[in-house]
Amino acid sequence: MGMQLNGIGVSKGIALGKAHILHRDDIEVVKEDLPAHKVDAEVQRYQRAIFDAKRQLQSIGDSIPETAPAEVGEFIATHLLMLEDAMFSEAPARIIREQACNAEWALRQQLDSIIRVFESMEDDYLKTRVDDINHIAQLILRTLTKNNNPLIQTPPEIDHWQGDIIIADDLSPADTVLLQHMGIAGFITESGGQLSHTAILARSLGIPAIVGVHQARRYVADGERLIIDGELGLTLGQATRQEIGHFLKKQRRFLSKRRKLKLLIETPCITACGEPIDQQANIDSENDIDAMHQTGLSGVGLYRTEFLYLNREDVPDEETHYAVYRQLIRKLAGAPLTIRTVDLGADKLNKHLAPDLIAHHNPALGLRGIRYCLHNPRLIIPQLRAILRAACHGPVQILLPMITHVSEVHELKKLIESIKSELKDEGIAFKEKVRLGGMIEVPSAALTVQHLAAHLDFLSIGTNDLIQYTLAVDRTDDAVDYLFDPLSPAVLTLIKRTIDTGKKYNIPVSMCGEMAGNPRYTRLLLGLGLRAFSTPPRASLEIKKVILDTSLEDIELLTQAILEEGSSTARTVLINSLNNLSE
Ligand code: PEP
Ligand code: MG
Repeated sequence: MGMQLNGIGVSKGIALGKAHILHRDDIEVVKEDLPAHKVDAEVQRYQRAIFDAKRQLQSIGDSIPETAPAEVGEFIATHLLMLEDAMFSEAPARIIREQACNAEWALRQQLDSIIRVFESMEDDYLKTRVDDINHIAQLILRTLTKNNNPLIQTPPEIDHWQGDIIIADDLSPADTVLLQHMGIAGFITESGGQLSHTAILARSLGIPAIVGVHQARRYVADGERLIIDGELGLTLGQATRQEIGHFLKKQRRFLSKRRKLKLLIETPCITACGEPIDQQANIDSENDIDAMHQTGLSGVGLYRTEFLYLNREDVPDEETHYAVYRQLIRKLAGAPLTIRTVDLGADKLNKHLAPDLIAHHNPALGLRGIRYCLHNPRLIIPQLRAILRAACHGPVQILLPMITHVSEVHELKKLIESIKSELKDEGIAFKEKVRLGGMIEVPSAALTVQHLAAHLDFLSIGTNDLIQYTLAVDRTDDAVDYLFDPLSPAVLTLIKRTIDTGKKYNIPVSMCGEMAGNPRYTRLLLGLGLRAFSTPPRASLEIKKVILDTSLEDIELLTQAILEEGSSTARTVLINSLNNLSE
């Protein structure tokens, strides 16, 4: 076997092509002191660079094909907005005047201070914003220095990279769009992670991509033949004939599967034996609605509202919530929207809004989700008022996270009633009857689900936390990742109990944890009686394909066997048999 490099596969697919290495390290910036009479001209030079950078981004935005997912344009639009923000459009000009220095130096000072602020914040989302800030600053710097290094300034008509595999330190979303225009086969970057915008874009543009391949440019020679597997995060050089044959076959299978999956968008989601199955979307923001429409999903089964709270220093007020929900309802055009009340705590922290949570040793077992909100109603009252008001405009339901005992449901219902009477007194329109559901994500909730079912309108199983709390495995700790087992009989028993109880009480039960979006578990979940899946939009067609190919009577025996099997090796064999049935 030849050279092999490993990284994080962020966009599935196989690419075979010639390596094209981009040497484009940070531009060296040195301070130059300017005589007073040159300061005005320097400020103008900076403003001209901002203007040129804007034009470049606009022309990339204009070149996005209409068939590309909406988020592609949104990333470019976000970068344009950042470029226009005072942090880039004004602050460096001020520094040039204050320090009588060159524009590059002023920009570098400003960049360092923005990054310091961002790095002192805590969540993953903000970390990806630091990448965006860096990309914008690099774009301005390259424009300032008329540095014609690729990419960004390469005119789209140049196509000599057709079929190449690009290897770069990092790529901005705009670079990624340009590269796709040029018809590249795939890309590898030395930095970046799953959550970076470039990774997300690669997925939506369908470019095989691997990130986090440290020092890739040292190990690969320009022009060298490479194979990349964007699912495994694997790069192969000097591949043997056998290896090439293997990956070409895998590529054919992958492309034909993707083509076939796209044909299923309009197909109703019904099992092979005629049972209709509900498929909804998990979303984090309005941006995800387009992806949801593109995969033919029928509504939102989980809207995680934490993102409204995370990137700010104050509690979002009622009008902020209302505007966001109203816009979502408009975009959903009659499709249902399940809004989960804010689930702060554990790995979702905001030290400004909830400083008391940061100090706790074991936040996953401390005040989290509904517990925290009941302790600090100021966090949830504006949200509940906004939901009740927005519900006048479309089918909205409320989902409560981290319920451990029915008393929390009673307390929340009391709070909702008091909010309603306040709204009434204030003469503000709201919907009287909004359906209320609970997440089943703590073993105590699953074990006493009959009490919850008696007082709620629907249930949603959150396997991410249900597995964490049932198996005592921290979902964020790599060291115990191998113990995070969705097939554990303990977990399956709790899932089954929840589904059976929902049926008995005649209320819908859906699953919105990651398990619902993994095709490996689809048949098993159908066998356990699940009839509603809420998944990230990008997973839904694969899940639908399995559902269409499944006859419920065929899977009964194997499902029962998996549920009763104590040995994990035997369970793996059984689930493989279940998934291979009638293939
Ligand atoms: C879950 O726990 O499965 C879930 C969907 O909630 P979150 O991942 O947001 O905690
Ligand atoms: Mg959860």
